[in-house]
Amino acid sequence: MSFKKPSLLYEYDALEPYIDSETMTLHHQKHHTAYVNGLCSLSLNSATNSTLHDLLGGLYSNEELSESDKIILTKFGGGHYNHSLFWEYMHPESSEKSISPMLMDRIAVDFGDIQSFKKQFADASAKVFGSGWCWWVYNPKIQKSEIITTKDQGNPIMEDSSLVCLLGLDVWEHAYYLKFRNERVRYIDTWWNVVNWEMVSRIHDELALNGRPIVLSNDGYIDLKPNIE
Ligand code: MN
Repeated sequence: MSFKKPSLLYEYDALEPYIDSETMTLHHQKHHTAYVNGLCSLSLNSATNSTLHDLLGGLYSNEELSESDKIILTKFGGGHYNHSLFWEYMHPESSEKSISPMLMDRIAVDFGDIQSFKKQFADASAKVFGSGWCWWVYNPKIQKSEIITTKDQGNPIMEDSSLVCLLGLDVWEHAYYLKFRNERVRYIDTWWNVVNWEMVSRIHDELALNGRPIVLSNDGYIDLKPNIE
């Protein structure tokens, strides 16, 4: 089994002046690389054809994995999956005009309007204690989306493999400390300027609404191709 860190689909300085080039460079080249390298110590060999989604989905209640593999997957598998998504949740050409009609309906039903959604997401992000992530997930079982947070490199699918992460924000200090210092709230407020609403809409319309999970391709990108089996 091999895991590959995806290249960024934009330059390290492309998110300036919102997210700085030095942070993006270190975050992608050092932090993400460390997660991918950490995954190499996985001992399981029976799952060579498993996707990272297969390995992480329902991880917390998976009785078949060894404890050491579970720890590796929680830390480094989560780190690889989360960051691969994070790079695609951002784009230099960010516009709320890219929100699809179906995603706009989702926001209206679950949150009222986009401002209420952003406020709830930002509040939850600010409240994460220590290192973690804030997620906007779609739950196909109840056809509803909600905001949840995870500790460290946890991902919502580790609890429930059917959840689809529409959007996620890294609130580890390494994601903002160089530019924003201790001001996480200012980082969160600024981050909205680089959200890739086109990608969020595609994840919602093409995957979530069809009950399909986010699977990373072998190259580490979100696989949006139609499901052909
Ligand atoms: Mn990070």
